[in-house]
Amino acid sequence: MKITIASGKGGTGKTTISTNLSSYLAKEADVVLADLDVEEPNSKLFIEGNLIFEKACDKMVPQWKKEECTLCGNCEEVCRFNAVIKVGDEILVFPELCHSCYACSELCPTESLPMMPQKIGELKHFKTENLDFVEGRLDIGEEQAVPLISQVIEYIDEKFSQDTIKLFDAPPGTSCPVIEASRGSDFVILVTESTPFGLNDLKLAVETMRVLCQKFGVVINRHGIGDNGVEEYCNAEGIPIIAKIPNDRRVAELYSKGELIYPKIQEFETALKQIAQFVGGVK
Ligand code: SF4
Ligand code: SF4
Repeated sequence: MKITIASGKGGTGKTTISTNLSSYLAKEADVVLADLDVEEPNSKLFIEGNLIFEKACDKMVPQWKKEECTLCGNCEEVCRFNAVIKVGDEILVFPELCHSCYACSELCPTESLPMMPQKIGELKHFKTENLDFVEGRLDIGEEQAVPLISQVIEYIDEKFSQDTIKLFDAPPGTSCPVIEASRGSDFVILVTESTPFGLNDLKLAVETMRVLCQKFGVVINRHGIGDNGVEEYCNAEGIPIIAKIPNDRRVAELYSKGELIYPKIQEFETALKQIAQFVGGVK
């Protein structure tokens, strides 16, 4: 089973829930947690483990071969991302803008733009006694999260059996990286908080999930702060509220020390149990 944990915005407690839920479920099942928040992965702060595998991850970008180029300009015309442009008698490639679509390379009449691998980040696999943890981390300055997220998911699909529970900690927001992290998931948990900001971003996340025809439910974190807007919205829209995690200062204290919450706060463990029961019943 694949479960993605996402949120319309950062700071809602998505990583707290991902790390605690994975550790909680791993008490009775094989679990792998993937940190797909590749621009700023921080799940490792809460999951201890030994590094058992690491590799560099690449994306393919065109490399200009001046010798055969006729300066026809086809490549510039075909690139929807302005990643390749003709300047005088030079062809410039901007790898950070390239989406590796191969169009310029395939349509170059003189094969002057072969696609070559370029490193964009790293994948690391850690293991504790009962939990696997895989992290994708983009190199500094790299902007393309999607190719790295795809490679981490591919690695997990190859490495772990169908019986393993796969939890994906998605990047915040509602753009392409989140869509990539949610693709193929059996269920998406949207983590929000009961504030007007939380509600606004939740609505955007819900729209995205509906466009993707994705099954989803909501976990309200820090319940008790703010207002009832999130609950009223979920009820009106028929969106299941899977759990409400009470606002508790001790959670922030444990978080700041890099500790898991559920072993120390009963209410948090109860919420995890509700989440586990809910997603366990998803067909
Ligand atoms: S399409 Fe090929 S031949 Fe034409 S300008 Fe680009 S690199 Fe040169
Ligand atoms: S591979 Fe696609 S995105 Fe990259 S430079 Fe060529 S046309 Fe543009």
